[in-house]
Amino acid sequence: MQWERPNALFARKALTSQGWQRDVLIGIGSDGTIAGIEKAAKAPPGAPVFDLVLPGMANVHSHAFQRAMAGLTEITSGKGRDNFWSWRETMYGFTRKLTPEHIEAIARALYIDLLKHGYTAVGEFHYVHHDGNGKPYASITELSDRIVAGAQATGIHLTHLPVMYETGNFGGAAANDGQKRFVHNADSYLQLVEALVKKYGKADGITLGIAPHSLRAVTPQTLQRILEALPGLDLADCPIHMHIAEQEKEVEDCIGWSKQRPAEWLFDHHQVDKHWCLIHATHTTSDEVIRMAKNGATVGLCPTTEANLGDGIFPAEQYLKVQGSFGIGSDSNVCVSPWEELRLMEYAQRLITRKRTVLCSEATPSVGRTLFAQAAGGGAKALGIRAGEIAPGRRADMMVLSTNHALLAEKDGDAILDTLLFAVTPAITDVFVAGKRVVTNGRHALEEESAQQLRAITRLC
Ligand SMILES: [Zn+2]
Repeated sequence: MQWERPNALFARKALTSQGWQRDVLIGIGSDGTIAGIEKAAKAPPGAPVFDLVLPGMANVHSHAFQRAMAGLTEITSGKGRDNFWSWRETMYGFTRKLTPEHIEAIARALYIDLLKHGYTAVGEFHYVHHDGNGKPYASITELSDRIVAGAQATGIHLTHLPVMYETGNFGGAAANDGQKRFVHNADSYLQLVEALVKKYGKADGITLGIAPHSLRAVTPQTLQRILEALPGLDLADCPIHMHIAEQEKEVEDCIGWSKQRPAEWLFDHHQVDKHWCLIHATHTTSDEVIRMAKNGATVGLCPTTEANLGDGIFPAEQYLKVQGSFGIGSDSNVCVSPWEELRLMEYAQRLITRKRTVLCSEATPSVGRTLFAQAAGGGAKALGIRAGEIAPGRRADMMVLSTNHALLAEKDGDAILDTLLFAVTPAITDVFVAGKRVVTNGRHALEEESAQQLRAITRLC
């Protein structure tokens, strides 16, 4: 796909690293980064002119294929209490039917939707590796290649996180039948990562990381071995993502196995630092929250999926008070809007604390500004990319919004973000990824074709 790549764009209002600016000329270098920012500028001839420009949002956690099962799990099984674990069984059944072609087509359709809602990068926590019978494909990277192809067709930046999945529960329990498409041993997993580094280590639009699935799905020995192997694979500073403490049962099982809670165990056994992104971290204690913040890790919160699956509510008020870094993820992709994720994040806190304006501070009193800026910055950090704010040297990942809505047209500063987050459906007209204009006037070039393919898949599934 040939994308238009202007040398500069002009914004009547923009949120930059220096705060809100008016009449800003944002220069874009040939390397896809922001070359410079000129304030109180005039629009040069030929540069696209926009009313409102914001940094692109990072989506730190996606399982792309689950997009095709959205809407199929909202009906009771009639067997008593439906919960995360019964949802997981349905998901396993669904996964069994998917071919490599399906996986690519679903990823492409999803990533177009993500772009159109303002996400400019996605962390794909990719755990389906083998065919429906658990047999490896002829190429070890077959399904990773499909995810990469899906992302590259759309222009979204991909942080690809191949998942190490080994066991069915803590203590080395064997993986079950539903998990056989996911399972690697340490050797075959390291072969996969090595092959991915060879193929994509220097590719444009891709960052490689790793994802030990969770402490229930990876043994301590394997985790140790993978982490030790990273420097030799040229991945010494790569993003490391792991699900942690999503469910109370998971915490109980971990205590039964190790006498420690999952986050506690991880901090005691590994150097968890700024390269780590702990996904969910829903059931964490005050001590764990403080350790996460101090270690510089990012928490990957997925509020709509966590609500959809009945996980629980992350202690975000406390975490933000200790300057914890977070990003947001679409996870099961039941929702593809960062705005909804952030709104729900705040509303969940209001409902449990019975207060208003919870996730903000004296320094940044606006909830919209606090959540948007921190999710964009923390998310970019977790995906291993220099993005998350409009600043020279950062990637030119940006979204353009219409201010036609009557509630937006006259607003300035943080009130814009508060309105977008709480009151109007944001109308995103254009999206730039590394300077490339991948959404133009609200449209992605592949959207119709891709939607047709997704539609055909939903008929099969
Ligand atoms: Zn997940």
